[in-house]
Amino acid sequence: MRVTVVGGGPAGLYFSLLLKKAEPEHDIRVYERNPEGATYGWGVVFSDRTLTSFREADYKTYTQITDNFIIWDSIDISYGEQVLRCGGQVFSGISRKTLLALLHERCLELGVTIEHQREIDDVGALEGDLIVAADGVHSVLREAHANRFGPRFSSGRTRYIWFGTERTFDSFTFAFRANEHGFFQAHAYPFDGQMSTFIVECDRTSWRNAGLDEASEAESIAYCESLFAPGLRGHSLRSNNSRWISFETLKNKSWHHANVVLVGDAAHTAHFSIGSGTKLAMEDSIALVNALQVKDTISGALSEYQLERKPRVERFQEAARQSQIYFENTRRYQHMEPLQFAFHLLSRSGRIDYDDLRLRDRHFVGAVDRWFTARAADRDVLPAIAAPPTFAPLRLRGTTISNRIATRVERPEDLAAAARSGAGLVFTGFVAVSEDARISPDTPGMYAEHQASRWGSALEAISGASTAITLGHSGARGATRVRAGLVDVPLEEGEAWDLFAASTIPYTARSHIPVAMDEAHMKEVREDFETATRLAASAGFDLCELHMGHGYLLGSFISPLTNNRTDEYGGEIEDRLRYPLEVFDAVRAEWPDELPLGVALNVSDWAPGGTTLQDAVSAAKALKDHGCDLIRVLAGQTTATHSPRYDPYFLTHYADRVRNEAGLATIATGNITTVDHANTIVAGGRADLCLLRTAVSGLTQKN
Ligand SMILES: Cc1cc2nc3c(=O)[nH]c(=O)nc-3n(C[C@H](O)[C@H](O)[C@H](O)COP(=O)(O)OP(=O)(O)OC[C@H]3O[C@@H](n4cnc5c(N)ncnc54)[C@H](O)[C@@H]3O)c2cc1C
Repeated sequence: MRVTVVGGGPAGLYFSLLLKKAEPEHDIRVYERNPEGATYGWGVVFSDRTLTSFREADYKTYTQITDNFIIWDSIDISYGEQVLRCGGQVFSGISRKTLLALLHERCLELGVTIEHQREIDDVGALEGDLIVAADGVHSVLREAHANRFGPRFSSGRTRYIWFGTERTFDSFTFAFRANEHGFFQAHAYPFDGQMSTFIVECDRTSWRNAGLDEASEAESIAYCESLFAPGLRGHSLRSNNSRWISFETLKNKSWHHANVVLVGDAAHTAHFSIGSGTKLAMEDSIALVNALQVKDTISGALSEYQLERKPRVERFQEAARQSQIYFENTRRYQHMEPLQFAFHLLSRSGRIDYDDLRLRDRHFVGAVDRWFTARAADRDVLPAIAAPPTFAPLRLRGTTISNRIATRVERPEDLAAAARSGAGLVFTGFVAVSEDARISPDTPGMYAEHQASRWGSALEAISGASTAITLGHSGARGATRVRAGLVDVPLEEGEAWDLFAASTIPYTARSHIPVAMDEAHMKEVREDFETATRLAASAGFDLCELHMGHGYLLGSFISPLTNNRTDEYGGEIEDRLRYPLEVFDAVRAEWPDELPLGVALNVSDWAPGGTTLQDAVSAAKALKDHGCDLIRVLAGQTTATHSPRYDPYFLTHYADRVRNEAGLATIATGNITTVDHANTIVAGGRADLCLLRTAVSGLTQKN
């Protein structure tokens, strides 16, 4: 077989040597545009010491690579005046030049032909039974068949530049520096005992403020040297064709077309902060060679290769995306104390959580526990030992919630069982503020004395847990059948009651059409909320929450998808928030001052044209100014046609943003199932409470 490989980077060279080793009779030719020994960049890091698949694929290159490894087992986070170290993080680094030289030598030894200074620009002229596009992220082969491969690029929001330095770091180091221009970070790691890679990254505003958008290479070096002088300890930065660029994440719909196959960066990229690009590229090569050996035809092998690799790489890309989002927003966490900042950073990608970190470095996690416990108790003196953060109390006004786990029940009779589960806070489900505010005929209410008494009796049986009531008005989602499996199925005419909402927009095509509220309706509903609040206080709840999400009445005012009013209650976010704030103020006036008042708020509608996160942060800030103590972050369900995005920790990211930008306590929700998960969220300052999806008998999660 004749195999043509375009690109002599890690993917192209490793593929060629592995295939030649497996099938020596194949004619394999690599075209590389650079001269031999010339390469960009400095060192690459592998996020693991044991490259088992490399050992199995070719023991000789494996030992040569690992013999040249610099191995270290900690991450340093230099933040403010402090450097925090977390151990148990095994990484290994190697100079890119050495890696390529080893692969190159092995290729020649096995009989691969390598032609340097051969730039391929006429893809049509390439010959071979199999053509391997290993020509990097800007692959000409892929672009020549772009309609077949379906590449999609997304540009990162930061700018970064890749330097080298003779300062040999003894760990993977993240350094953060704030100055009058903004916030900057460096990712530094050693790679050959004499040099380290030093990548500087910042948001675009900081970059422009510092004049780096117009700076020459020498000026950029001078700026970064002075900014990171403490970490560089007198060493200079070295460039290698270094320039400020944005990271491009690439995905391809298909990884092969006819006899052309993509490997490495030509097929996918993953943000450099999780140090995986070279490893992924080389693992692609292993998978492609394996597929060529087990399948009889080239097309069968290429399909097999894609089936094997694409889902794995996409999982990695998701972790890299989370890490990238973190580094795009580090400024948001500037206010955090160093230990929390460091914990947040280390658990940023969702791959490493609290328990993993504790296994890696129990001293570091122990320090986090002690710091967290001291802060929760408002003390400066650290305790000698402390329980994990989930078990620290949370104080909101005069209420102390005994731990950071919340759970939820639908009916008064389920409250006691939920409290026995050990949760610090037990929420009711949606409780209607009037008969017309019900979602369906069985929605519990708080608009009559007997209802307050029933809830009150249930509360008397509870000890240890705090209790919260969620008061709401269903708006356009009212008058539906009991939610037994199906939701939002309207009651028959005759059974249904009149619906009110911000605008005359039905929830589904089959729903009853709501009346757009006028001043009189607004007054009436506001008074219903006041009455319900008084009753809830008399029943003995510790916390009251107003539902402003999921397409219910107050949420319908906030979202532009459900509010097309032209009066002062429609328009920009400040206007759309006007009525919900009026209700909030009325409730705050009724609810005892020493008790906390929260809001369940939609921060995204998961639908085009819906609430933006920026709107949600503005809403949270306004609510905070009006005396809100806690936001439970919700998403979707504003319209029946929303498209949910269930990433790992999907609602936690929103809770994190609201908490750290609006500066008030949040509850994270969304399939949080373990205490480990909750510890990761709470210790990292992503939220203050976690609503766990529990299995307490009789519990359902409907609203
Ligand atoms: C800032 C930064 C830091 C990184 N750090 C790490 C890290 O620490 N660890 C890690 O594992 N990865 C890291 N990576 C990723 C890593 O560099 C790539 O993922 C890896 O090099 C991909 O290998 P490849 O062979 O697919 O592509 P490349 O290494 O890009 O190789 C492609 C080759 O094709 C050649 N070529 C391109 N077009 C043509 C043409 N038309 N004709 C002939 N030849 C051509 C190029 O000259 C090049 O030699 C980092 C990336 C960046 C941007």
